[in-house]
Amino acid sequence: MVTKLSELKKTDLENTNVILRVDFNVPLNGQTITDDTRIQAAIPTIKFLLENGAKPIIISHLGRPKGKVVEELRLNPIAQRLEELTQTTVIKLDEAVGPEVKKASLALKQQQILLLENIRFYPGEETNDANFAKELSELATIYVNDAFGAAHRAHASTQGITNYTQRAVAGFLMSKELEMLGSKLANPERPFTAIIGGSKISSKITVLKNLVKKVDTLIIGGGMAFTFAKAQGASIGKSICEDDQLETAREIINLADDFDTALILPKDTIATKANIFSGDFKETDIVESEIFNAKEIPSDYEGLDIGPETQKQFVQLINQSRTVVWNGPVGVFEFDSFASGTKACALALKELTQKEGVTIIGGGDSVAALEKFQITKESYTHVSTGGGASLEFLEGKTLPGVACLENYNEDDYQTNESKDDSNFKKEIEKVRT
Ligand code: ADP
Ligand code: MG
Repeated sequence: MVTKLSELKKTDLENTNVILRVDFNVPLNGQTITDDTRIQAAIPTIKFLLENGAKPIIISHLGRPKGKVVEELRLNPIAQRLEELTQTTVIKLDEAVGPEVKKASLALKQQQILLLENIRFYPGEETNDANFAKELSELATIYVNDAFGAAHRAHASTQGITNYTQRAVAGFLMSKELEMLGSKLANPERPFTAIIGGSKISSKITVLKNLVKKVDTLIIGGGMAFTFAKAQGASIGKSICEDDQLETAREIINLADDFDTALILPKDTIATKANIFSGDFKETDIVESEIFNAKEIPSDYEGLDIGPETQKQFVQLINQSRTVVWNGPVGVFEFDSFASGTKACALALKELTQKEGVTIIGGGDSVAALEKFQITKESYTHVSTGGGASLEFLEGKTLPGVACLENYNEDDYQTNESKDDSNFKKEIEKVRT
């Protein structure tokens, strides 16, 4: 168990510089933030730091500048939004390391926030350069990581830095992700069901192999179901299929057998002759389609959503579960004509949440589907913010950004009050006077 920020005492935090790594990788239209969910999500952690007298120094990445300064990817719009949301002075710097940054960190006062420049402007971030990590660490004594979405990367600001700060703990967002994807799923209330969809088996092999051993029921939907169907000898027409994954599909089918897991594949499918990916179709178009038995799709048809029988079965299985983890849409939900299966699953999961079932959703496109259907995240037990990170977590991997956080240890708390940051405080006094 990692140490949570909420376990630190006021005496640990008061008047102390705290580096907070967040994921403010928000979508931008020019210099306008089009969705500030990620900034809002970090507010509880920031508020907690401010209320306990800590002085937050915030680090984030934005976009993919690849180790160079990209003017359009400076964090200025984020600084402004952060100031509005926290009602606190945000001092935004144009650098993340160097003498100016050091000076600003020493001059920082309580109830102020220091926001460093886009950390990915520096090549040392992604290469996890030790000197770069050390220089960052020297701005503070405590490190808090709230960037779950970046925790599967061993970067300087997500991993290397923890080699040098006195303490490294998990922020509120990070703690919630770990609790939901970790302990809730490690000891799930049963029946425990996983719904795995999306286009390709290849991107989800490990998660499938991991979950098939843990769940009572494994539901496969989306494009990857056709590779499973073909592996069992079905005719799948023009439906998406990874021929190099047929053996993997068989392996997962066998694992399900070995572990007594019910493996559920779609019985019927909604298919079309139209090539909806050709660019000739709008997502709102009504595309002509037919329903087929999933094992007998004519050669000129492509399956794009689960059929009505399957939809009914999936919903029923969700209703009978107490814990459901869902990753990957069960159809090409981007097109209204093939969104019905995914929407039915999303609504059934919402209903299960209302009946106090545990529902955990991860995956970038799955979250995009919820947004399309205008179902709020609050409708579920947990909607993970980390696409790649949540997938790796579900695969059972240890995330480097999590492994480097300290383990909860009672003794730390006793010695903590006398922790020696007197030098640091003296330095601050020097700058102030
Ligand atoms: P997530 O991001 O939630 O993990 P994936 O990236 O694995 O999900 O897969 C999402 C994509 O899978 C969506 O763009 C969706 O259109 C596609 N998909 C779902 N069903 C099918 C299908 N039957 N044929 C082709 N693509 C599909
Ligand atoms: Mg995706």
